[in-house]
Amino acid sequence: MDLSYSKSLENSSIILNDVILKDTVDSIRLTKRPYRNSAPTIDWNRDETLDSFIDIDALDAEFERLSTHFKSQLVELRKHPNNQSLHHTLTTTKDALMRIRTWSSLLNTADGLNIVKKNIAKQREQELIQRKYEIDEILKITKAQSTIDLCFLMDCTGSMRKYLDATKNQIRQLTEAIVHLFSTKPYLAFVGYRDINENMEKLDFTNDENIFQEYLNNIQAMGGNDTCEDVFSGLEAISQLSWSNPNRILIHICDAPCHGQEYHEFQGTDNDNYLKGDPKNRDLLKLMFNIKELGITYCKIQLNETTKKMFEKFAFIFGSISEIHVDDPECLIKRIIERTSAIIQSNIKSTLSSYHNTNKRIKSYTIFNKEPDWNLLETYSVNITEIIPPNDIEDLFRPLCVNKTDGEIKIALNPFAKGSLRFAFYGQFLNDDSYFIDVVFKELANADSKANTFIVYQEHLEIQAIAQFLAEQFNIEQQRIFRNFLPIIYADAHLVQQKLNPTKIYQVERRMHQEWHKWNNNSGGVSLNEYSTILQAFSHWTYHITSGRLMVVDLQGVKVDCAYLLTDPALHCEDLLRFQKTRTNLGIKGMHQFFRTHICSDVCSKLNLPASLIESNDNLVNRFDESLVCNATSEINENLDIKTTEEKDFETIDKDQLDTIENFELC
Ligand SMILES: [Zn+2]
Repeated sequence: MDLSYSKSLENSSIILNDVILKDTVDSIRLTKRPYRNSAPTIDWNRDETLDSFIDIDALDAEFERLSTHFKSQLVELRKHPNNQSLHHTLTTTKDALMRIRTWSSLLNTADGLNIVKKNIAKQREQELIQRKYEIDEILKITKAQSTIDLCFLMDCTGSMRKYLDATKNQIRQLTEAIVHLFSTKPYLAFVGYRDINENMEKLDFTNDENIFQEYLNNIQAMGGNDTCEDVFSGLEAISQLSWSNPNRILIHICDAPCHGQEYHEFQGTDNDNYLKGDPKNRDLLKLMFNIKELGITYCKIQLNETTKKMFEKFAFIFGSISEIHVDDPECLIKRIIERTSAIIQSNIKSTLSSYHNTNKRIKSYTIFNKEPDWNLLETYSVNITEIIPPNDIEDLFRPLCVNKTDGEIKIALNPFAKGSLRFAFYGQFLNDDSYFIDVVFKELANADSKANTFIVYQEHLEIQAIAQFLAEQFNIEQQRIFRNFLPIIYADAHLVQQKLNPTKIYQVERRMHQEWHKWNNNSGGVSLNEYSTILQAFSHWTYHITSGRLMVVDLQGVKVDCAYLLTDPALHCEDLLRFQKTRTNLGIKGMHQFFRTHICSDVCSKLNLPASLIESNDNLVNRFDESLVCNATSEINENLDIKTTEEKDFETIDKDQLDTIENFELC
């Protein structure tokens, strides 16, 4: 581990003296507890292996905790004897109690320790086999869903030379980026059209980038007669290609409309020799239907306004045609990569969510996207469960302690949104204040009572508390190194459980009103549209600082001027059985998925993070880096101005670091 982290962080003051930032952070806090002006003491060098299961005190404590839980659930069951969820919780808790009792008694005997160890090992082994199988399935699906057919449909007449050349020059960036992001070569096809009875260009799908490049190199931008072109021949050729992969994307790049008065605003035959429409009498409806039937995502790159009316007509039949904005040919392939990766990721996400939801019943709610009149809604008394934040890095590797209080809530009758895992309800929450605050209540969507136990909700809460803790530590590191930076702040989350109906459990958080972003996910996906070097470095740092035992991913939330406000993270843990109920922990393989697509930025290097685990081709990374992460670089230059040595803690900087800092300030 990096020795600079062994420095005690006890008195590091966190950066909340800025009024705007303080207000922002306040806006996602649930309680009025004071900010942590100093972070808890952490000895990052401690390297104990936790074996709490065989520690008799830990067993006693766990027995005590479960007994209390068991008693309170028993009281509830007497009130609601038909509640199946309570029955299930009680049975599970009872089993766990029995197991601990047996183990505890065994531990007092001479051979007991060995028997307990064996039992524990056997039980964990079975659970591990099951979980490993599930993770392999998830990764297999992710990979299978990453394969892509990408077809360029391009006007190849004289006026398009700049864009044709850009495609020729940059196409390798695209293949490299897709390989880098999704570990699979894209299948590429090309259809070029000109004017009626002029030569067409057509290359069916290939995943050999050399064949594709050679084909492109031989195409000349030429011909074109009048302004309008024979777009219909291009469309006709699209459905004749051998589309075969799960992701099918058509990129239509053109600067002129098709023939026919109804597709443009030109007057007279100067611009259009066939004002009556396609001279070959092809039917647009049929052309569009053939493309749509193949499940193709149609993207257009409209280089000027003349094609506007044509694309409106197309979209009227086809449905949604999404636009990729390209102002400069130099950015053509970059914009296509961004859009392509977003389409693939959303495809993977929906496949995985249907995989997770196979045979699962989803709670039946009607979505109603309007905030209710709170005066008309009933107030419910609730038990509030709050995770006590970790104090120490070892705290991250054992169940966190909780604090229980009472409160009141009001909740909308219908959710206003549904995510892949949860429904979200508008709500109001009264905790340690005398007035209600606006909140969101999140309820798990799965209708299975086993998936709705308190423990499942508590796991989500623990994950968030760990991410919150690591983000606080990360901010201190950022502050140590950078003059201006964006802190990462995780929203507070509590659990509320209705006293009169304990099956009603919700995670509660403050509302975030700004535009939602998801920067990375738990299977290595990273948003190129919203690329953030800071957030990517945060995930990398969490891996590094925990010696590879844990990594925070699934970074999502909102970006405001002074901070990233995040929620709903996922954790990959070395221990696959940790957080197994939330099912987002993909263990070491999940961490490898992150590094597969992660490119260490200047932020990573200033944080002294060792380069990623996965061997990468240096050239590939460099080109990929330059071409795609330019937004991210400006983020560093604008916001992450590095501190001079005087501002930084002098003792922690060595000679080499000084050199890099100076170089950085120059560029
Ligand atoms: Zn990195």
